[in-house]
Amino acid sequence: MRCEIVAVGTELLLGQIVDTNSSWMGEQLALAGIDSHFQVKVGDNQRRIADTLRHALSRSDAVILCGGLGPTQDDITREAIAEVMGVALVRDPAMGERIRRGFEARGRRFTENNLRQADCPVGASFIPQMPGTAPGLVCPVGERVIYAVPGVPFEMREMMEGTVLPDLQRRAGVSAVIRSRVLKSWGESESRLAELLAERIEALDRAGNPTIAFQASGIEGLKIRITAKAESEAEAQALIAGEEAKVRAIVGDAIFGADAQTMESTVLDLLRARGLSLAVAESVTGGLIGARLTAVPGASDVFRGAVVSYASEVKFGVLGVPEGPVVSTDAAKAMALGVRERLGADIGIATTGVAGPAEQEGHPPGTVFLGLAHGDQVEALRVRLPGDRRRVREYAVISVLNLLRLRISGSARSPELR
Ligand code: ATP
Ligand code: MG
Repeated sequence: MRCEIVAVGTELLLGQIVDTNSSWMGEQLALAGIDSHFQVKVGDNQRRIADTLRHALSRSDAVILCGGLGPTQDDITREAIAEVMGVALVRDPAMGERIRRGFEARGRRFTENNLRQADCPVGASFIPQMPGTAPGLVCPVGERVIYAVPGVPFEMREMMEGTVLPDLQRRAGVSAVIRSRVLKSWGESESRLAELLAERIEALDRAGNPTIAFQASGIEGLKIRITAKAESEAEAQALIAGEEAKVRAIVGDAIFGADAQTMESTVLDLLRARGLSLAVAESVTGGLIGARLTAVPGASDVFRGAVVSYASEVKFGVLGVPEGPVVSTDAAKAMALGVRERLGADIGIATTGVAGPAEQEGHPPGTVFLGLAHGDQVEALRVRLPGDRRRVREYAVISVLNLLRLRISGSARSPELR
């Protein structure tokens, strides 16, 4: 069973939006054990969509079309499918009613052109999941099949998970459940992780299931994906849990979270569990730490606030940093202490450094001082972070949060990047 993805939309060709749908679908197909050899993009033009579909059907058993299912004139995916199937498009009154009721339920004004979305090629059927107003389609073409799903990402995902992937697995005779879990790490290089886990990976390679794969994701650290295949959900989860315990025992507290957890959500959870509040003094990171912490729902019970003390005078005047070099361990410590006191928090953290491109106070770009004031412990750490201005700033954010994570969890681990 080979499945091809065709993303429809002129805005994809013009680079106005990035085709994240295809990459997500590609990942899901791989996880589901379905081969996928081609991903294609085509603009909103019926002849070109139809040509692309014919070509896809000539080399693949299944084609997933995504986008162009909406109510407007440039949404012509349905017409192109009917053309390729050589059948008429017929309006389905029950679906028309469902679409009309969907608008009423959302308190949105219904317009007649929305009924175009109730058109179905003869012989095709609607996908039962319908989180938006556009239904998806399953269209058999002889032994082959075309699926059509909307371009809106959450609608596409719900239909993929609810209908397309299970249907593809059934057609392919894949009965297995494939699940994965992503462990996120910070502080070890990819080569060091590979070295640590070499024996595990070798053993898993021999057994074949579960498997481990690394994925470098820059400012988010390194991910370790454990994938297991089994007859049932429970069995797959048990395989993953067993392997996860082994990996954690080897890699230790370089692992800061799993799946949906982020460095900031982990730090907030740790602080909350200990009843501690946090204040942040930001120079080189210019507010990025506060932004990332407050992006997590419920941050307010832990996070007191941040002072973006960019100018030296603000460090001196607002935070009470003694006059002197502001890119230094002393400045980082004084910032952490000052912001903790000014904002009335239990813990203060701080960043000061050189994002580049120019050097500052004799320090090369990438030199960053991380400050932490926790109880009567006050420390500052000098780190050299790689990359351009954007990356140095992002690395500084995750590095100082990681330092905080290690200190409040009582880890003896060195917070420096290796
Ligand atoms: P609608 O009913 O909303 O019109 P549609 O099926 O017609 O859905 P499109 O009009 O093609 O879908 O796309 C709707 C929106 O979904 C786009 O404006 C874009 O934001 C997003 N989108 C579409 N295709 C993709 C894609 N391949 N990757 C990521 N986002 C996409
Ligand atoms: Mg549209």
